Amino acid sequence: MDTKLKVKPGDAIGLYFVESTTDQDPHLVDMTENNGKGSCSCGQYVYRVNPAWRNGEEYPPCKHISACNLWAGTQYHLLLVKNQNQ
Ligand SMILES: [Zn+2]
Repeated sequence: MDTKLKVKPGDAIGLYFVESTTDQDPHLVDMTENNGKGSCSCGQYVYRVNPAWRNGEEYPPCKHISACNLWAGTQYHLLLVKNQNQ
């Protein structure tokens, strides 16, 4: 899993722009889709992840969704620590 991809929050809750390793344009990730599992504009998601999820199969998310989950987890823990220190 590539955890070094740059994640930039979009202008709506749950929307993120995630750096692409193949394209110049970032991928659009929507973490409000699929009951919070997310969706992505990349080929891996469209051709592999989404069809598997629709069939009810266990399948790992694409690296852009994973990068968003990691980013959000880090933000959450930073917030926990900040609130603890108040
Ligand atoms: Zn993706």
